[in-house]
Amino acid sequence: MLKVRGIDRGLLEMINQAARDSLPNEFVAMLRAEEGVIEELLLLPGTLQGEDSATLMMHMMPIDYSVVGTVHSHPGYSNRPSREDLELFRRYGYIHIITCLPYDEGSWRAYDGRGRRMQLPVVEL
Ligand SMILES: [Zn+2]
Repeated sequence: MLKVRGIDRGLLEMINQAARDSLPNEFVAMLRAEEGVIEELLLLPGTLQGEDSATLMMHMMPIDYSVVGTVHSHPGYSNRPSREDLELFRRYGYIHIITCLPYDEGSWRAYDGRGRRMQLPVVEL
């Protein structure tokens, strides 16, 4: 398992922009890490971006060991994981980000596979 030490600031900005662009729907993607830093998104074909549920198509998941987890947006002001989110976190990956309105640098939180908040330092690449 790849050890992750941070996330690229530019990628976070990209995530928040994608979240804004996806309103009123959720934005969903996979997170890829390179040398311990999350720096790239992987968009899955067949990903549903519904208003309330971000459902990742597990059978479409590539075998890609640089993927460390998921990111999705909430169209509201809460970045707490829903019951469905916790189910997803448990099944796939070990770092999960949720961002919420207003999609700025303070909007997001990182969670582990059990839905517990985790510290994820922001780094400049
Ligand atoms: Zn959610």
